[in-house]
Amino acid sequence: MSVTKIAVVGAGPGGYAAAFLAADLGLDVTLIDREPNPGGVCLYRGCIPSKSLLHVAKVIGETRASAQWGVEFGEPRIRSEKLRSFKESVVERLTGGLGLLSRNRKITYLRGEARFEDSHSLAVAGVDGGGHRLSFDHIILATGSRPASLPGVPSDSPRVWSSSDALALHEIPKSLLIVGGGYIGLELGAVYAALGTEITVVEMMPGLLPGADRDLVSVLAKRLERDFASIMLNTRVTEMEEQEDGMAVGFDGANAAEERPRFEKVLLAVGRRPNSEIEGLDKTKVELDAKAFIRVDAQRRTHDTAVFAVGDVAGEPMLAHKASHEGRVAAEVIAGLRSAFEPAAVPAVVFTDPEIAWCGLTETDAGKQEREVRVARFPWAASGRAVSMGLPEGLTKLVIDPETERVLGAGIVGSGAGELISEAVLAVEMAARVEDVALSIHPHPTLSETLMEAAESFFGQSTHLHRASDKVRKR
Ligand code: NAD
Repeated sequence: MSVTKIAVVGAGPGGYAAAFLAADLGLDVTLIDREPNPGGVCLYRGCIPSKSLLHVAKVIGETRASAQWGVEFGEPRIRSEKLRSFKESVVERLTGGLGLLSRNRKITYLRGEARFEDSHSLAVAGVDGGGHRLSFDHIILATGSRPASLPGVPSDSPRVWSSSDALALHEIPKSLLIVGGGYIGLELGAVYAALGTEITVVEMMPGLLPGADRDLVSVLAKRLERDFASIMLNTRVTEMEEQEDGMAVGFDGANAAEERPRFEKVLLAVGRRPNSEIEGLDKTKVELDAKAFIRVDAQRRTHDTAVFAVGDVAGEPMLAHKASHEGRVAAEVIAGLRSAFEPAAVPAVVFTDPEIAWCGLTETDAGKQEREVRVARFPWAASGRAVSMGLPEGLTKLVIDPETERVLGAGIVGSGAGELISEAVLAVEMAARVEDVALSIHPHPTLSETLMEAAESFFGQSTHLHRASDKVRKR
């Protein structure tokens, strides 16, 4: 049996961030995962390959939009093999880089599946058939999540795709039904729509991206109504039957089609479930909550003092950057440093075109909490940069505490919203007042000015916005 100070199970953004920091802090680390290199779902089958394809989708969208500015391109010819190898080369390059970073840090990397023997030892069944036993002082579980299934849907049918199947890009179907209008459904819908697939989305809730701010979603929804063949809200799938020429799907709900339309493929994107069924976990004192997430405290320690858990397996939101921060907290705590996971703002980004991004308190959540807030908005139609890029439909809004005038949250819809939101994260984390944002000089002409002008509008005066009803207030 080998001995290590820290074992980390799962080498996704939570696990590798934890392992790398622990090694940098001088601890002896063993990192365990089935894949050849660190990266996890995010790099192999999630964030990174989807972003490569979304980049291509955006380029296609821009060439189409440019006709209105007098520059016309022909219809794109998609060479799917080349596109697939571009995506795979990105994944290989980045996961290979993480492998190198891991080796340079002298981390022991074991390829296999881990099973608890007790709170201080694991058996690892190697992917090559071999086995390994390992004892440790502490362990960090970063085992991630997997796609949720839907009862009645034949998930073993080749016509039914998970997000991994869609990202594999083995074929570009003529028609694709996407069940679930959340992050994955809309991002992958955007990819396949750009590649020429006819997209239908079915969402059981009254709106797309149910958790997101309606002001932001309505801008994206308008674009998707143009790019997708159909969006059925308040609707559920009731049955699916595989037929020779496609999957026949029955719907129930406000916008249900009367017939059972056929789709070449069906993508299931109805959420993800935590991978907490780790063999032998019952030999530890770790506890799960009602949704099967591992219960953790602010230090990411479970009910077993030797066991920590981070990332998707330790609770929502299931986002890579939240996992990495938690991983770093767990590593610091094990190294004896004072640390806790207590963010004021976790940013969320939907990488469609336009992008939607938000952080901190949203107007919707403030309403649910009956918390009084003031909302300052700046429509991108008043931004020189946005208009010159043909993006006047965007919106930037700040959610502000009316008494302290602190920025509590922000929401942005528009091109590059995912990049712009970081300034708002910093404002919330630094407890900035809205005046701080208004008085910070932003470069002109940039989309970042929309944050500054939203802040100015809180005081009733912004240079590029004039509403007769606004009363100018002293800062
Ligand atoms: P999601 O929770 O974002 O969306 C699932 C959607 O499916 C919801 O809108 C839900 O109402 C709908 N739904 C559920 N059951 C349904 C049914 N029977 N019929 C119709 N609609 C139904 O989940 P997702 O899109 O699968 O993504 C999973 C997780 O992965 C997300 O929570 C997110 O944290 C993460 N993710 C993040 C990003 C990103 O950060 N850009 C991208 C992809 C995934």
